[in-house]
Amino acid sequence: MSQRYENILGAIGHTPVIKINRLGPAGINLYAKAESFNPLSSVKDRLALGVIEAAEKSGVLKPGQTVVEATSGNTGIGLAMVCAAKGYPFVCVMAESFSIERRKIMRFLGARVVLTPAAEKGSGMINKAKELAEEHGWFLTRQFENEANADMHSRTTAVEILESFADIQLDYWVTGFGTGGTLKGVGRVLRKESPNTKIIVCEPDNAQLIASGVQQERNTDGSPAGSHPSFSPHPVQGWTPDFIPQLTEEALGLELANQVLPVNGNDALVAARNLAQQEGIFAGISSGATVAGALKICAEAPEGSNVLCMLPDTGERYLSTPLFDEVEADMNAAEQEISRSTPNHQFS
Ligand code: PMP
Repeated sequence: MSQRYENILGAIGHTPVIKINRLGPAGINLYAKAESFNPLSSVKDRLALGVIEAAEKSGVLKPGQTVVEATSGNTGIGLAMVCAAKGYPFVCVMAESFSIERRKIMRFLGARVVLTPAAEKGSGMINKAKELAEEHGWFLTRQFENEANADMHSRTTAVEILESFADIQLDYWVTGFGTGGTLKGVGRVLRKESPNTKIIVCEPDNAQLIASGVQQERNTDGSPAGSHPSFSPHPVQGWTPDFIPQLTEEALGLELANQVLPVNGNDALVAARNLAQQEGIFAGISSGATVAGALKICAEAPEGSNVLCMLPDTGERYLSTPLFDEVEADMNAAEQEISRSTPNHQFS
């Protein structure tokens, strides 16, 4: 059904669930929920609207007040959209290591982007955002601890998944975690409404923070008091920051994870390319990682199982990253041969 919206915010959510037809083994039904169908092309549009509306409702966010957040990009892009549509100035604090296009998209949407040194990792950018909020009286959205993040997923993402699987049993739901908002918000609803669905939480194989069992050190406000000892840099942007976020820890405390699964970074890149080239689904590195995890589940699952994995964002966000390393700008030998196969319009 075609919809008419009062503004862009109405277009957030209700993303499609799409069958993956060629990547999985025969006899298993693998599906993906494509969050790139959100207006700014990622799952974080949901969080952005959720935290801003909750803050408006509780009165902590005043008309015209500046919003600030530390983000690897997608949250910033979502917040830049929501703030633009609602008329709040927005400042995004971001480590210099994240892709250039993320910064430019945010600035195009009217946000200001403040960079922090790569060496100071995720916790460095969070501390900077906190400092700025305190100094200037700005509203810090605190995506890693804000319950409005998980709430939005309970009210939207989870409900959509239940609707998509109203007529068939969902046996496995596969996700990663960045903040853990998706995991906690969707996980708790599935537990209650679809108790036979097994919840699989993926993390990079070289940054197995959850699997380590080592507790995250925290400040009294729930923010991390430094890097987790099991962290090492990994290629899956948006997944597993250098600490276990409070929302993720709460999800684990609620026993929402049936299994924690390590995923190899290279497997993630391969899966993202396969998704594009064999399914026509254009998604990012964390999507590839989630598919790679889901394929491991498919390999072990009983015949006839229905598996759903999350695709958090679009491949277009990764043009300057290793995802596109093998993609050339110039014609290769095969393309030149096609060009030479007819007489005109050649470069030779
Ligand atoms: N993938 C990407 C690309 C993301 O930006 C994020 C959010 N940081 C996630 C996955 C994880 O989502 P969540 O924060 O809900 O755990």
